[in-house]
Amino acid sequence: MKAAVVTDFAAPLEIQERDIPKPARGQVLVRMEACGLCHTDIHAAHGDWPAKPTLPFVPGHEGIGIVTELGAGVTEHQVGDRVAIAWLGSACGHCRYCIDGRETLCQGQQNSGYSVDGAFAEFAVADARFTVAVPASIESLDAAALTCAGVTSYKAVKVAGIAPAETVAVFGIGGLGHLAVQYARLVGATVIAIDIDADKLELATSLGADHVVNALEVDPIEAIRELGGADVSLAFAVTPKAFQQAFASLNPGGRLVCVAMPPEGTMSIPIFDTVIKGLKIIGSIVGTRQDLAEVFELHASGRTRVVAEGRKLDEVNQAMSEVLSGEALARLVFEF
Ligand code: NAD
Ligand code: ZN
Ligand code: ZN
Repeated sequence: MKAAVVTDFAAPLEIQERDIPKPARGQVLVRMEACGLCHTDIHAAHGDWPAKPTLPFVPGHEGIGIVTELGAGVTEHQVGDRVAIAWLGSACGHCRYCIDGRETLCQGQQNSGYSVDGAFAEFAVADARFTVAVPASIESLDAAALTCAGVTSYKAVKVAGIAPAETVAVFGIGGLGHLAVQYARLVGATVIAIDIDADKLELATSLGADHVVNALEVDPIEAIRELGGADVSLAFAVTPKAFQQAFASLNPGGRLVCVAMPPEGTMSIPIFDTVIKGLKIIGSIVGTRQDLAEVFELHASGRTRVVAEGRKLDEVNQAMSEVLSGEALARLVFEF
């Protein structure tokens, strides 16, 4: 089978011919139909973060495919089922986080395309308990983008606890942000979309954003204040500067939800403002299997729109450049 492999954090990915993996006990073998390119895959391939993946590895955690073989003991799926392979490849199942509904905080988790090989390949094995069924009415291209970009932005909206009369500033209208605009609208909020690219802002408007701010042309903090300030800022832009701006745009009682993970990842927070304004800073990491099932349900019922373009796995390096340069409008998805 063909797989895109990271062999060196400073080199392009290699397309390699590999043996089709065998599903171990509790695993399914999945024949991939589509896998989205998340900005996280780029961080992984570049070794951007303190905890680095072990080389060589196959990225990809927006994998959608058909189960073609069951490992011993698998009862969750049948051959022929269409499933999603998400970032949460597996979790221990018995720690305090796993049993109280916060499985994405499990310290014993494995991550697809990071600590275990992911879905940038024609086949992948995955823990059957952590693959999520994809409703028949959702195309694999859309399902791929929903499997990380969807669930992560949905979860960010959930943890922010947004009330319908509140204003939400969405920083970064890429893969995650274009869906966040829609989830924030679904809970009734007024949405301000901030990006540095006019096409992405036009897209945000078409997806329901009430206001757009081009952070290259104006100071987003001032622009957002003029619009009444943000009760919630969602940070999806991959630069600490946008986090500072997202924080500084908050009204009293506001919440900053940190989602993007820029390599040079620190921000300086004024203690005085945080205290006086009663601000909250929240880290949000992907979403649970249940969150993903909810994201699929919303999409199946026609309440969200995925903006994604297909690419071939052979184009993986070019696709990564397109995301980094901002040429990719929202999500790029490898189709097999
Ligand atoms: P993306 O590249 O598709 O989107 C980023 C967007 O930010 C682009 O539209 C870009 O134009 C915009 N942008 C760049 N600079 C900006 C600025 N100064 N102000 C406003 N907008 C700006 O990336 P993505 O796939 O949506 O991922 C975004 C980030 O979220 C990445 O760091 C990724 O690793 C991270 N991520 C986190 C989680 C999590 O669970 N916390 C999950 C998935 C992705
Ligand atoms: Zn656990
Ligand atoms: Zn992702």
